Amino acid sequence: TDAIRPLIAGNWKMNGLKSSFAEFEAMLAGAGDVAAKADLLVCPPATLVGAFADKARGSKVAVGAQDCHPKASGAHTGDLSAEMFKDLGAVAIIVGHSERRADHGETDALIRQKAEAVWRAGLTAIVCIGETREQRDAGKTLDVCGTQLKGSLPDGSTAANLVVAYEPVWAIGTGLTPTAKDVEEVHRFIRGQLTDRFKAEGNKIRILYGGSVKPSNAAELMAVANVNGALVGGASLKASDFLAIAAGC
Ligand code: PEP
Repeated sequence: TDAIRPLIAGNWKMNGLKSSFAEFEAMLAGAGDVAAKADLLVCPPATLVGAFADKARGSKVAVGAQDCHPKASGAHTGDLSAEMFKDLGAVAIIVGHSERRADHGETDALIRQKAEAVWRAGLTAIVCIGETREQRDAGKTLDVCGTQLKGSLPDGSTAANLVVAYEPVWAIGTGLTPTAKDVEEVHRFIRGQLTDRFKAEGNKIRILYGGSVKPSNAAELMAVANVNGALVGGASLKASDFLAIAAGC
């Protein structure tokens, strides 16, 4: 599994205006230097996906989106479909992020439907899982991750249509990270779940670590067995940090 090409994916969350084009252009300008190490993906807010995808065409940076509705179109005011993001040039969509699970009460069953919607549009689903602090302290980390994987991943997952992101909720935006040993334990468990369910294909599916990844800790985290890249929040807003994280692969 260590032969899997790493993916460094940036999740801009609800950040970014037209004035952020300059930062994104800086990423495009520097991407060539780190492209040998990792694939790069930036997921800006929906308002910027089209413009970013246009700018990124032909570059070493792919553009993705954050969340989508399970349906392709219809009477769902304010919602956006995977097909719409595909139309704009997105190649992947993040689903099941803990902020969606918490802020919008998203369940594993809904996340699975969203992942299937991403596939229906021909894109890659980045499915996020991870335990809360309370769950970790109660020794339930692997139970929680196993339940989320079972419920959130559709049948038919492949290395081309799925990326799993392990993001301990308590590590997101806090500056806290699990130890390399703890990350290794969870990623080994996830790999086992993937191979149990998807057989040999499960050995090829990327498993990203996410939660307070920054240039200073990226190399250590990316060196852990079964860590095939990172999902980066805050540090993905700055071209220099995002590129430095990729350089750590
Ligand atoms: C995230 O929310 O996907 C994330 C990893 O955030 P941060 O890097 O800011 O902890």
